[in-house]
Amino acid sequence: MARMIAPKCKQCRRENMKLFLKGERCLTEKCAIERRAYPPGEHGRGRTKQSEYLLQLREKQKMRRYYGVLETQFRTYYDKASRKSGITGENFLRMLELRLDNVVYRLGFAASRSQARQLVRHNHFIVNGRKVNIPSYQVSADDVITLREGSGAKAVVTDATDLTASVAPWLQADHDNLQGTVLRLPDRADIDTPVQEQLIVEFYSK
Ligand code: SF4
Repeated sequence: MARMIAPKCKQCRRENMKLFLKGERCLTEKCAIERRAYPPGEHGRGRTKQSEYLLQLREKQKMRRYYGVLETQFRTYYDKASRKSGITGENFLRMLELRLDNVVYRLGFAASRSQARQLVRHNHFIVNGRKVNIPSYQVSADDVITLREGSGAKAVVTDATDLTASVAPWLQADHDNLQGTVLRLPDRADIDTPVQEQLIVEFYSK
């Protein structure tokens, strides 16, 4: 299965912001953004000519990296979002939020989205009592996500819950029983992803 292989901290430095791709390390002074807050590479500290296209491209790359989605799948989300009724940018963001790996992370059951993706892939979670090992699985309102009985990842998941300061308002987490519920579908105001999705819609709609 294809996956992102670019070094995580370089991705943050390229986007000039913390994307929280490495779990606990992101909260410490070892974070590369704290130490080298400029883009990687030979010309990282040089001046870059700004353009509308570059702004849109960087916003698109930022959101893609934030959710850890490859370009082809990301574009597919955009195409589906643009066919739905409502605001395309919000539809797009909502579809990314509803991915099972993101929900596991938002519930506090993983320290990062990449860890959440690995836990899902390795069959550690069940949704409504059924095994689901597809990170891109779209959850629905009232879905219940639980750590599988006898899962060998219980210690990892419990450690992750200890790092969790808050859970998204559209989710409910029971960290004692390692179970979460999707209370409702998220509105734009519920999603704290630091992107201007309209710029991404403009990028793809050219
Ligand atoms: Fe990004 Fe985390 Fe690396 Fe900091 S430690 S640069 S937030 S991946």
